[in-house]
Amino acid sequence: MTVYDVAIVGAGPAGSCAAIAARHAGARVLLLDRAEFPRDKACGDGIAAHALDVLAELGVPDPVAGYAPVPVLRMVGPGGGAVARALPRPAYTVPRRVFDARLLTEAVATGAEVRTHTVRHLDVRDDLVEIDGEFAARAVVGADGAGSVVRRALGFAPNPPGHLALAIRGYAPARPGGGQPSRCPAAAWAAHPGAGPVGDGSANIGYGELLRGRPVSRAHLLDRLFALLPGVDPAAVTGLRAHHLPLSTRRPPPGRGRIVLAGDALSLINPFTGEGIFYAVLSGALAGDAALAGQEAATRYTASLRSRLGRHLRHSRAAAWLASRRWVVDRAIRAADRDQRVFAALVDLGLGDGLLDGRTLGRIAAGR
Ligand SMILES: Cc1cc2nc3c(=O)[nH]c(=O)nc-3n(C[C@H](O)[C@H](O)[C@H](O)COP(=O)(O)OP(=O)(O)OC[C@H]3O[C@@H](n4cnc5c(N)ncnc54)[C@H](O)[C@@H]3O)c2cc1C
Repeated sequence: MTVYDVAIVGAGPAGSCAAIAARHAGARVLLLDRAEFPRDKACGDGIAAHALDVLAELGVPDPVAGYAPVPVLRMVGPGGGAVARALPRPAYTVPRRVFDARLLTEAVATGAEVRTHTVRHLDVRDDLVEIDGEFAARAVVGADGAGSVVRRALGFAPNPPGHLALAIRGYAPARPGGGQPSRCPAAAWAAHPGAGPVGDGSANIGYGELLRGRPVSRAHLLDRLFALLPGVDPAAVTGLRAHHLPLSTRRPPPGRGRIVLAGDALSLINPFTGEGIFYAVLSGALAGDAALAGQEAATRYTASLRSRLGRHLRHSRAAAWLASRRWVVDRAIRAADRDQRVFAALVDLGLGDGLLDGRTLGRIAAGR
């Protein structure tokens, strides 16, 4: 059996970026995914500028080529107030079928070996990890998404109620003029109608809710989605697909020994917006690099993750706690409408690695 330096489970944004980073560091890399690419993934398809920064550092050639920048971001509060402003830096709506395939193509170009394989079992030995008795590596990156098998193999529980959301998305004919992507700074996901024009005549629409211990059915999500987007004809919507979002407010340890977790597998989804691609590409890159340390992979990864995202994750958890009060969200929307710097701070917090600074808090508290 060939022993790889690094085996990566899952070839989504986290897995492909882990592969690219590990290849840049000179490792022999195996990338496993149960799906044949290109493949779809339930997502709002929003790619923030912060994610593009990470991809540029990794040398991924223009991952959003051919898609127009999103001109305006609209945030809607639970009380109905809204703000629509130009984003400080451009974001894009790129279908995941296209975006993820581009990242995987780059991982292959850097020399990663890709296999279609559904991972079921990990065996940790003294000097390596065996995968399903078929593959072996000195370190493993679990980038296998919200239902991560690698996380389960480590004995880490899934996110509990209150820290897990369920969202559905589909593609509707775009409104004339393109419409504006809409993101609710999630009064804890009570309502998250999104509508992002893809640029091919369709718009990505979505709705998600925080799970609180009671089952939420697909029919309920669809009811809410179409209630919040009354102009959309349900019969014209295609590609409806729901998926879990493990929020960053409750994360397992980043790994143990030779095994580390990245992206959704590590519950890295912004509780404020439901965005996870920036975290996936960043944590994937850090994990792929740390994996070269073999038995010390988890220690090295924990340190790099803390130094790169630790403060931000503490701030976004505090922001999510505040945003669970509807009036706070309404005031934040009002403040963002009046003050471009507040808007920019909320965007950075919700789409990237921003902090909840004193000025922003003050403006929200003052209700202006
Ligand atoms: C409805 C919805 C809307 C969203 N909108 C946005 C948005 O607009 N912007 C944003 O930034 N984020 C958004 N997110 C979050 C975003 O989709 C995730 O954070 C992102 O996909 C995480 O990337 P990942 O690489 O960690 O996992 P994934 O993209 O889920 O990739 C995991 C990969 O692992 C593979 N896999 C799983 N199990 C196994 C196994 N046992 N063996 C082998 N392979 C396996 C899967 O096939 C998959 O390819 C949204 C999520 C949802 C549900």
